[in-house]
Amino acid sequence: MYQVVRALPTDKDMVSSDREQVLVSLPKHLLGAPVLVLNLNYVPINICTGRRAIVLVAKEKAETLDNYQATIHTVRKPVNIPSVIRLAYMVKRPYAPRKISKKEIFLRDQYTCQYCTLKTSELTLDHVIPRIQRGPHTWENVVAACSACNLRKAGRTPLEANMRLLKEPRIPQPNPYRILENYSMIDPWLPYVPWSMQEAERIR
Ligand SMILES: [Zn+2]
Repeated sequence: MYQVVRALPTDKDMVSSDREQVLVSLPKHLLGAPVLVLNLNYVPINICTGRRAIVLVAKEKAETLDNYQATIHTVRKPVNIPSVIRLAYMVKRPYAPRKISKKEIFLRDQYTCQYCTLKTSELTLDHVIPRIQRGPHTWENVVAACSACNLRKAGRTPLEANMRLLKEPRIPQPNPYRILENYSMIDPWLPYVPWSMQEAERIR
């Protein structure tokens, strides 16, 4: 069985002499480099700094899967700056439930019109049961639609408009890859990031 913990280890978990051994004389710009942190099961769980990554690896709380082309010198030996690390244990992390918004609907529907399957960044929100018929603003009643389909459907239900939904709209599953949303991908991270995420980045 894997040990399951609720939080990532922090610098506070180690005594200051541990920290000093690892961190003496590291150049600052490399210490801040973003490092992709994978859970034991290879699912991204966090982005940390080069500094944190080096400490985690030195403490054997993580293994390095990929390195930046840079080395820093500690008092003991040269250390590579990791670009991807994998934790040595499983971290169980509750992902916040998602609030409904334009962006979230587009992400759930993979930037695809749910009527004609057009993939575009020019999407609108469509209420499946229209607002005018008291359709609610919920995950189950809101989909991404291109403006042509939205215009065509107007204030009608799909049945009335003789239009079919690609799939039944649902509340999306919590998505662990959301931690990557505000970061630009770097090459060593890509093998650990599902294709759809990269696609969404490109279209946006
Ligand atoms: Zn469409």
